[in-house]
Amino acid sequence: MNIATPKEIEKTIIALRHNHFDVFFAETATKAQNIFFQDIFPALTVQTVSWGDSETMKATGVPEKIREYPDIVTIETFGEKMSRPQKIYQRRQALLCDLFLTGSNAITQQGQLVNLDMIGNRVSGITFGPKNVVLFIGINKITPNLEAAMHRIRTIAAPRNAMRHAGFRTPCHQTGVCMDCNSPDRICNVWTITEKSYPAGRIKVVLIGEELGL
Ligand code: SF4
Repeated sequence: MNIATPKEIEKTIIALRHNHFDVFFAETATKAQNIFFQDIFPALTVQTVSWGDSETMKATGVPEKIREYPDIVTIETFGEKMSRPQKIYQRRQALLCDLFLTGSNAITQQGQLVNLDMIGNRVSGITFGPKNVVLFIGINKITPNLEAAMHRIRTIAAPRNAMRHAGFRTPCHQTGVCMDCNSPDRICNVWTITEKSYPAGRIKVVLIGEELGL
């Protein structure tokens, strides 16, 4: 897998800032947690927090720590004991939270966020609803352009994502290769390209100098 060079990382950060995203750089997932709790979280007025599925976000350990704050209400959207209707209900409530955390499937050197969702709750939260959004993104998600970003998502992120969910009846679940399926369990249903943050600074990107996520 291609990992962005220091020059490409710098180019991406400059482009993201040009596109009105707030950007932080952390060498590791642990340092990303420190940056979040020292530089980002205290500056926000937050009572409710929720998150969309993201392996990179989980690697930072941020959700666990937020659950320890007695004055913060977390809107939980996952859990083995939660039924499917409960998850959908909670995911709809999450779209009105003060702070939404997740990752991004890809990020271009032109400073665009590119994502592909099954249901749409993650891309909805990034797009509109939550007052603040923080995205944790490994440098392995940096791509030269939009076409490369979509290619990366179709051929790498989406099949891997399907494979980590038990019981999905999609071709890629068995083979790891996308067949552009028409399965009822298809996880590739909604594309979003976030060109800029509106309002400026609503979306904050914590770019992490490690290979993380799918
Ligand atoms: S389109 Fe179907 S086969 Fe391709 S990655 Fe998505 S779920 Fe898998």
